[in-house]
Amino acid sequence: MNRRDAIARVPLVTFAALAAWQASPARAQQLTHLQEDDPTAVEIHYKRDAGKVDRAKVPKYVPGQTCANCSLYAGAPGDTDGGCGLFIDKDVAAAGWCDAWDKKAG
Ligand code: SF4
Repeated sequence: MNRRDAIARVPLVTFAALAAWQASPARAQQLTHLQEDDPTAVEIHYKRDAGKVDRAKVPKYVPGQTCANCSLYAGAPGDTDGGCGLFIDKDVAAAGWCDAWDKKAG
């Protein structure tokens, strides 16, 4: 592999390492729960309980959507909280929801 090829692979390696770290048990132990009054949480209408999303204010919410079935959620099945691709240092509730919800494949 020449230098140009090596440099071209850096973003891919970095992304893979970040994805592995997001799902790691070590990371889960370091995270604090995202609070609903966190300024970013307020901005994206995050609720720890998706059933409490105010559909009058957030019409895009569809019942049944939760962090657990969002493509950005990194928690394991059955976990009550897990990492989210939007937050480096906080986890989110599996039963939660925000504006950035994106259907998990599969
Ligand atoms: Fe939950 Fe997905 Fe929003 Fe993260 S992006 S808070 S996992 S709905």
